[in-house]
Amino acid sequence: MQKTIILSQSQKQILVDHAKKCAPAESCALLFGKEESGTFTTHQVYLTKNIENSPVNFVISNEELLLGYQEAEKNGLEVIGIFHSHPHSEAIPSSTDKKFMTINPVVWIIYSNIHDKLNAFVLESEITSVSIRLL
Ligand SMILES: [Zn+2]
Repeated sequence: MQKTIILSQSQKQILVDHAKKCAPAESCALLFGKEESGTFTTHQVYLTKNIENSPVNFVISNEELLLGYQEAEKNGLEVIGIFHSHPHSEAIPSSTDKKFMTINPVVWIIYSNIHDKLNAFVLESEITSVSIRLL
């Protein structure tokens, strides 16, 4: 069964605004929430800094990741997703993304600035698309 991630319109807008503000570099964020039977509900968007400041890659510092995980735990939530943007390409995982998806097996949400499109993926035995439901 296909997995689903639920985002509110305002959460989506926060991510899209962040992506536009960080362009031409990639932007990134963590999503906190809960998972039940393959449905991930986003409760909090945690914007992060791309320390690489690169148009084709993103790196979240270990310090910020640690703070993010602590914040999620404090609020009784899990890190359910990683968001990043592709300023110049489609909203599909790059080969680098695929490598990091094996290390971080959460939902990966990618926003394409050029197509104004948001897609979500999860790595199961292969990269599988996750449907995004906007509330
Ligand atoms: Zn990417």
